[in-house]
Amino acid sequence: MSTLILGGGVTGLAAAWHLHRRGEAVEVWEAGASVGGWMKTLPWEGGHFETGPQGVLWQKGTAVDRLFSAIGLPFRSPGTGARWVGKGGRLVPVPASPPALMFSPLMSVGAKLRMALEPFISVRDPEPEEGLSAFITRRLGKGVATELLPAMVAGILAAPPEILSVDAIPKLKQWEATGSLVNGIRKSGVSHMVVPEGGMGQLPIRLASKLPAVRTGLRAERLVRLADGRWRVSGGGEAREADRVVLALPAFEAAALLGPVAPQSAGALAAIPYTSVDLWHSRHTPLPALKDSFGFLIHPPEGRGYLGSLVPSWMDPQSAPEDLMQLRSFIGGAFGKPVDLDQWEGVSARLKHWIPSLSEASAVRHERAERAIPRPELGHRGRVKAALEGLPGGVDWLSNARFGPGVRDILEGLEAWN
Ligand SMILES: Cc1cc2nc3c(=O)[nH]c(=O)nc-3n(C[C@H](O)[C@H](O)[C@H](O)COP(=O)(O)OP(=O)(O)OC[C@H]3O[C@@H](n4cnc5c(N)ncnc54)[C@H](O)[C@@H]3O)c2cc1C
Repeated sequence: MSTLILGGGVTGLAAAWHLHRRGEAVEVWEAGASVGGWMKTLPWEGGHFETGPQGVLWQKGTAVDRLFSAIGLPFRSPGTGARWVGKGGRLVPVPASPPALMFSPLMSVGAKLRMALEPFISVRDPEPEEGLSAFITRRLGKGVATELLPAMVAGILAAPPEILSVDAIPKLKQWEATGSLVNGIRKSGVSHMVVPEGGMGQLPIRLASKLPAVRTGLRAERLVRLADGRWRVSGGGEAREADRVVLALPAFEAAALLGPVAPQSAGALAAIPYTSVDLWHSRHTPLPALKDSFGFLIHPPEGRGYLGSLVPSWMDPQSAPEDLMQLRSFIGGAFGKPVDLDQWEGVSARLKHWIPSLSEASAVRHERAERAIPRPELGHRGRVKAALEGLPGGVDWLSNARFGPGVRDILEGLEAWN
């Protein structure tokens, strides 16, 4: 069986690696000049910055652990750093354990008491699909849904939970299926954020190095079914025939290719919205409280388009020169972007509002992540189902919009797919 994989992001490369490992002939086409998609580590004077993920959730004996071990990818874990939620005009620490949350000012007393009842809430069938806010309200109460959830979700999907499906975070239904979220989390154990040595971009580079045929700068433009049932893909003046084609592409890119051959799938995929976000990377004099922390997220109504800032130099000390602390601030997303946040001056003013002692930045970089994050709104499950059911034989679609937003979700999804 020969397979042509379109898309050389982490999804396409990890899928190709699974197929290659079991002896299948596989080739990858990547439209960009280098592999990785959003997962790229780019050089920045004396260090580097990440264009997309800045860490991956790792746990012994999971799909991430198995892949990293099999490809010999060295990685480091920064441990558990402090984190905060910006609320009521100040940064409130996020407690490290659920019992500590009971004493935290992060939520009202009523919200905490209701949250404690979660293990006694009955499990609901997966159908019909619930909204994310409705799911959290049902299991943990309205207090958690309105006082804590928005910042957490903004940090993952840059969108408000009221418009999202519970499938936006697939772990939630998996945990509930064990009897309760508390039980599910306890059973699945604790994951740690880890970063490959040299940055996240090393993961796709290492995967590509294990594959026989990865072509970069080659964009698939047309997909045609041949009389014998095989597929012909063409683009960039080249053509390839294969038994199977795997579209490891964002839904809107897959929709464009599938339009002429699978209109139902194409329509369903085109209806999956994506969120854009602005990323500001900045370097500052290290602040004792911040430099060894994960960072902070701002409660969305208060942030007014400023979603929060993480500290990549804590996650990955190689990212910044030793005497500097590197921040990455997230702007906009599905919340919209006020005009004052178009320029660094506006972003810097917001940062200083939350951390008054922060020094002026000695270096700043702006990156726009256009249509970078799938937005699984309510109805997502039906769209994914229609897309998969409408695929012709010999064509498949793999994506974070199918498996879940994080690299961990993708790698777990690929193990099950494989
Ligand atoms: C700003 C940001 C921060 C994130 N932070 C985290 C994090 O901390 N932890 C975490 O786990 N996840 C994080 N994520 C999510 C994670 O990065 C993504 O889920 C993952 O990288 C998606 O990989 P992919 O291969 O599915 O898609 P992509 O990275 O989009 O790759 C798709 C590839 O297909 C190529 N392509 C498109 N069209 C064609 C075509 N016609 N022919 C050939 N090739 C084509 C593109 O050039 C691209 O390289 C973050 C994402 C973003 C954007």
